[in-house]
Amino acid sequence: MITNQNPTPDTNLTDGMHVVVDALKKNGIDTIYGVVGIPVTDLARHAQEEGIRYIGFRHEQSAGYAAAATGFLTKKPGILLTVSAPGFLNGLTALANATTNGFPMIQISGSSDRAIIDLQQGDYEELDQMNIAKPFAKASYRINRPEDIATGLARAIRAAVSGRPGGVYLDLTTALLASVIDKDVADKTLFAPIDPSPASIPSPASIDRALKLLAGAKTPLVILGKGAAYAQADDAIKELIEKTGVPYIPMSMAKGLLPDDHPQCAASARGFVLENADVVVLLGARLNWLLSHGKGKHWNPNVQFVQLDIDAMEFDSNRPIAAPVAGDIVSSVDALLAGLATTPFKATDEWTKAVNDAKIPNDEKMKVKLSNTDMPMDFFSALNAVKGVMDNHKDVYLVNEGANTLDDTRNVINLYQPRHRLDCGTWGVMGVGMGFAIGAAITSGKSVVAIEGDSAFGFDGMEIETICRFKLPVTVVILNNGGIYNDAHIDLSGHGDPSPTTLMPNAHYEKMIEGFGGTPYYATTPAELSKALEAGIASKKPTLICVEINPQCGTESGHIGNLNPKVISNK
Ligand code: ADP
Ligand code: MG
Repeated sequence: MITNQNPTPDTNLTDGMHVVVDALKKNGIDTIYGVVGIPVTDLARHAQEEGIRYIGFRHEQSAGYAAAATGFLTKKPGILLTVSAPGFLNGLTALANATTNGFPMIQISGSSDRAIIDLQQGDYEELDQMNIAKPFAKASYRINRPEDIATGLARAIRAAVSGRPGGVYLDLTTALLASVIDKDVADKTLFAPIDPSPASIPSPASIDRALKLLAGAKTPLVILGKGAAYAQADDAIKELIEKTGVPYIPMSMAKGLLPDDHPQCAASARGFVLENADVVVLLGARLNWLLSHGKGKHWNPNVQFVQLDIDAMEFDSNRPIAAPVAGDIVSSVDALLAGLATTPFKATDEWTKAVNDAKIPNDEKMKVKLSNTDMPMDFFSALNAVKGVMDNHKDVYLVNEGANTLDDTRNVINLYQPRHRLDCGTWGVMGVGMGFAIGAAITSGKSVVAIEGDSAFGFDGMEIETICRFKLPVTVVILNNGGIYNDAHIDLSGHGDPSPTTLMPNAHYEKMIEGFGGTPYYATTPAELSKALEAGIASKKPTLICVEINPQCGTESGHIGNLNPKVISNK
């Protein structure tokens, strides 16, 4: 039994920490990710004691990304636990990222003495956390009284998973954690919210409007987004796509919702279908920067949109939406399928052929890139080796971050199962890799391969200790091209400094995992890389493969160089 600073000689008394754990258990929370310290250390200990898994990290941001991965994969909020002020702030980036991406998670942080914080009298780790979290979270609450713990957690869970999911902040004061309450009274407060994410049924008129627009389309296209992957409407979405014959492209985290080698997948004709589609169905995807806001040279200027989204505020955000369908994806896709009986639509043979023809030259170009035998390897020859292995392990989770490493992996490595790819997402954030890999491994119990740029890995590389400590089946593949993007590695400083984008091209990142008992590999050829990756996956043990990539290959900012402002050189 864990004791706290309040002696509780009366066995019928309990304290805030115990009630928090009881409330988490009551809500089926089985895992907490975090970094402990004042005032939450005993909370984590007691959670473990009560059968909740506690996954301790080296940095709160990574723990938060792991919690977000759990949220995306399960539709239940992942839980991040942090200490006050700096620990809270370290976790906040992950919370904001979850909110931006629509992943449900709850960051629970201990906080210092309210009276001292409010008068700014200088407490240990003083910070007004609840208010600071507000702009970064979907909701932000503080619990002050032990009798409110169950209600506070219920509010946080509902906020995280209902409507568009997101990150929620829950502030637990030190006084609350240490507060004493009669156990019988506390037990009576415990409850789990009924139906925390209620179905949101689309209006029949909106379904009718969407089907009529599609029935008149000559060149329809579906874009699958991570909202569709999140919704777990896999069979219904497959049925809708296959019944209508419409070509589709998956956004990166929707890859695998239908297998990437599906005949209707138009990913390799992306440019052609965007330029030519007259009606585009946005199925849990936003018209944000990742789709050039639905505007400009990539798009048919006369395109009309059907958009399926849980959040009606999303409609018209970038382009007017001709047929908005507000509802959850499960309900909306079911309604569309039912409506096909009276208002059918089908892609014409002419459109299907045009899309298939457009894929051929691009598939050919890709084959040429993949068969490059130059040494050192470039991204494509390395990824060709990875692809050969991954195609034999279709249930492996893929985590991916970097610039060129992200863009090229997305295009080369096929996914075959829904929700098996986690990446930089809506923000294009770096440093998600180890957190996502740990979250996916803990949540699924399956093997994970993380394909990392050397720069991206640097943000959270210390978490390989976490991977080794928990003996997780994670293989980290670092494509080391010696820096951020590519570089001629010229000294512009005049006194021998590396260039701003230069990192160490001959680094041996695999030595890091050796120090923690994991398995190291260094690969300079596709054959070495295939062999190491196959062995890493088969071992189900922590593995790190450092892959030597030509530092001259890759492009600045990967595929989004247009977003990177450039100075005009006056030298
Ligand atoms: P992508 O980056 O893959 O395009 P986005 O994150 O931009 O995906 O868009 C996902 C969209 O899906 C968001 O607008 C979100 O509101 C919506 N969404 C998330 N979950 C659901 C759901 N269960 N039902 C309907 N829409 C959802
Ligand atoms: Mg790099």
